[in-house]
Amino acid sequence: MARNEADFHYRRPKADAARERRALLTGFGIAAIVTFAIVCGVLSVLHSNSTHENAVDSAQAAEPHAAAQATQSQQNVPEAKAPASADSSSLAWRDADFAVNPDRTDWNMKTNGKKTVYLTIDDGPSEKTQQVLDILDRYGCKATFFVVGHNEDYFPMIAEAYRRGHTIGMHTYTHDYAQVYSSPDAFFADLDAIGEVVKGQIGYVPCFIRFPGGSSNEISEQYCAGIMSELVGDVQARGYQYYDWNLSVGDGSEHTTEEIIGYGTEPVDDENIMLLCHDSATKQSTVDALPAIIEHYQSLGYTFEAIDRSSWVCHHGVNN
Ligand SMILES: [Zn+2]
Repeated sequence: MARNEADFHYRRPKADAARERRALLTGFGIAAIVTFAIVCGVLSVLHSNSTHENAVDSAQAAEPHAAAQATQSQQNVPEAKAPASADSSSLAWRDADFAVNPDRTDWNMKTNGKKTVYLTIDDGPSEKTQQVLDILDRYGCKATFFVVGHNEDYFPMIAEAYRRGHTIGMHTYTHDYAQVYSSPDAFFADLDAIGEVVKGQIGYVPCFIRFPGGSSNEISEQYCAGIMSELVGDVQARGYQYYDWNLSVGDGSEHTTEEIIGYGTEPVDDENIMLLCHDSATKQSTVDALPAIIEHYQSLGYTFEAIDRSSWVCHHGVNN
């Protein structure tokens, strides 16, 4: 610093009286120009601020409708608690990879050789979803939610489950056997309806589906003979893959928490366990059983993973 100041003084030229006068006049000129520029600048900034405030006012005037909508849509939705570890940036690859794509046929029909539980949670979202998500977070588990359209108030939980690293699959919108299995067209219309819901929550239609009752269901025969034989091929031709299960916690009918723990921990021959359970208002016993089921498998060295395109595709045989 000191050396720079010394250099400046050293370089200043000596001036005679005339040069000093010219310099003085030039100085006044420059000062006048600079002052004018500063005044213009201040005026310009003042104007700009006032324009910005006007713009903000206009935006706020246009917002009340949207704000009211947001408030209304959140009224019945449980407040999502922050997960222990949300890392949305590292999960961004799922958006393109999981989207339904008829060109992709890279399904894995074999188990992965590791002790893996694919916990699949059907029929949600519901008022129980928040509890399920918190339990999964507590144990560091990932799962797959095959969702339906029953509970509009809880649709935001689909986005929340996805944000926490779980996979979203589709289980049809109505889950009404008489409707979804009345014809292949009816099935796909229903699948498209839940596809729109899921797309609204996570930004795309996923490729993962579960048939109501599984691909082996016989009830569909009451509505359309042979429909399952047709659908298992049709869904894959359209880029979807369907997942059945090799173990169920048995909560399709009413059971105590202890019974559900018992069913959910029965020995399975495969290394991979595709475990079926349900998420609905009446399934508190399932929620209560989940910690013990998870602890059982974790103590045996299993990890809980969400389904992705590399996961074992578990298929029942078709019975209709
Ligand atoms: Zn179901």
